[in-house]
Amino acid sequence: MTPEEILKKRWGYDSFKPLQKEAIEAALSGRDCLVVLPTGGGKSLCYQLPAAAGGLVLVVSPLIALMDDQVAAAREAGLVADSLHSNLRAAPRREAYSRLNSGVTEILYVSPERLLVGDLYEAIGPRLVLAAVDEAHCVSHWGHEFRPEYRRLTEALDNFPHAARMALTATATPVVQDDIRAQLGLRSPEMLIGHPDRPNLVYRAFPRRDQFKQVLEVVRAHPGEGGIVYAQTRKDVARLAEKLKGEGVSAAPYHAGLNAEDRRRAQDDFVNERLDVIVATIAFGMGIDRSNVRYVVHANTPRSVEHYQQESGRAGRDGLSADCTLLFSASDLAAHRWLAKKDVTLSPERERALEKQLRDIGRYAVSPVCRHSLLSEHFSAPYPVGERAQEGCGACDVCLGETRGLPDDEALLTAKKVLSAAWRAEGRYGTGYVVNLLLGRPSDRMTGNGHDQLKVFGLLKEAGEPAVRSWIDQLIVQDFLEVTEENEYPLLRITAEGRALCQGNGTVRLGLPAPPRAGKKKSKALKKAEKAGVVFLESDKELFEKLRALRRALADKAGIPPYVICQDAALLEMAALKPQTPEALLGIKGMGEKRVEKYGRLLLEAISGPQ
Ligand code: ADP
Ligand code: MG
Repeated sequence: MTPEEILKKRWGYDSFKPLQKEAIEAALSGRDCLVVLPTGGGKSLCYQLPAAAGGLVLVVSPLIALMDDQVAAAREAGLVADSLHSNLRAAPRREAYSRLNSGVTEILYVSPERLLVGDLYEAIGPRLVLAAVDEAHCVSHWGHEFRPEYRRLTEALDNFPHAARMALTATATPVVQDDIRAQLGLRSPEMLIGHPDRPNLVYRAFPRRDQFKQVLEVVRAHPGEGGIVYAQTRKDVARLAEKLKGEGVSAAPYHAGLNAEDRRRAQDDFVNERLDVIVATIAFGMGIDRSNVRYVVHANTPRSVEHYQQESGRAGRDGLSADCTLLFSASDLAAHRWLAKKDVTLSPERERALEKQLRDIGRYAVSPVCRHSLLSEHFSAPYPVGERAQEGCGACDVCLGETRGLPDDEALLTAKKVLSAAWRAEGRYGTGYVVNLLLGRPSDRMTGNGHDQLKVFGLLKEAGEPAVRSWIDQLIVQDFLEVTEENEYPLLRITAEGRALCQGNGTVRLGLPAPPRAGKKKSKALKKAEKAGVVFLESDKELFEKLRALRRALADKAGIPPYVICQDAALLEMAALKPQTPEALLGIKGMGEKRVEKYGRLLLEAISGPQ
């Protein structure tokens, strides 16, 4: 069988995603490769498909929590799959060994620690065709999740000189790519580097005004759907989770301060779709593969663009549209800075790196520029790509007209107004004072200073407080203003660049949140299916929910997460096309032979039964 035939038969897909075929062909012909594809890019298939073509595939992954789900998913595609790691109970472990020793295993997942024990080499040895290392950025000091065990993996891999090696990761700058090649001993690998853009994610970044209200707005736009709300501190997490529950939202908190049992339950409930919303610190996420997360809201600004990419990337792994919304405040950056320096003295190098990270994420959040292009360019990839070149991405607040960039001359004029107020305040006052000055709101202090007589007093009255506050943040991240601390009071001060700008040297970009348009919030989850020619009527929604409930019940019974049984996209297509026979069901994307055999009868009953 050709790879295409295997893809159709086992996984029910008609075509490969970008670079999958190249990776699979490299593996099948015994060549090494490095695969860099964004989250949801379909990396698992790159090593699962060769397992279906014969021989044994070994997969090294650091995420023990995910391994059982990966094994379950591989089995749904009809593979003989097992895992070996320290959390495995005795019975499944015995079965895994027995299958491995009798040579029937097709794909074996191991943790690096388990592999490095060394006792498996003999059983694996002769049949091994491919050794895949997932999350390969873990070998690199420069990556964001360095794992010392990963540096010893070549030791293990050198026991199988005849097997091809495949390293996979979602994010790798060129430095990290080099590190992976060297550390895993890849032999003239094919470099299969995908574009980092995730076209199905709708990115938005808004100034934060009322945190809870803005979070709730996103949650409310997705009733009954899965979402993650990230907040900076445990206290924020606890507060937001309580308030969401108070609004009747199915939500639970997740942070490192909760006991292990509560954390495990929250994660389990979320993955198994018994819980809609997880409110979490960044402690949450490494082990989450729920593919139908429909939105990720950052109630606070993340620490870097890399973190943002990773955390927001947990949305929409199934390729359907998902919302990623970031609520920005410059004060978050100060909090990150403070946290990073709280207990340690940073080396000058580390400090520079930190400042750059904070500046980059700040710029991402406030620049009135297409977010897809900002993210792509951060990872050194040109944007726009393909058909989107002309019309803008259509999938971010800027291109959707929800944030408006001011024309250059208007931006410069506005910036000058804000900067001159800060100049007049001589760096002796905080942001609030400067805001009030620009809005023309006198206080006793201001009158006492005679500042209500200044020309800048009330100069931006028309713009309103949210806009003025946001512009100040925008000028901070562009280095025209800075916040300095004196006796613990944050003071707003104009920088040398700011003074230069006022004198006509330099350029500035300013944006303005456009007022929300009614009816704008309609779900875009179906866009993709519609694009593929599937017409989804409002009346199909009921059937979709019915199929979702059936899937949840089947998953519960089998003790696996619902997404392992099949993806939302497949259920949407079923609800729209209403297949009546097993053959028709095979025509649904993502429904391979094994799945139809296992679940076909029940699905068909649900489709043809009373609605
Ligand atoms: P990654 O590990 O790169 O984040 P996964 O391997 O988890 O991505 O795959 C993401 C989703 O894409 C899965 O739901 C998978 O079934 C689906 N997928 C993989 N390959 C294809 C394909 N060729 N066509 C359609 N969907 C695919
Ligand atoms: Mg993966």
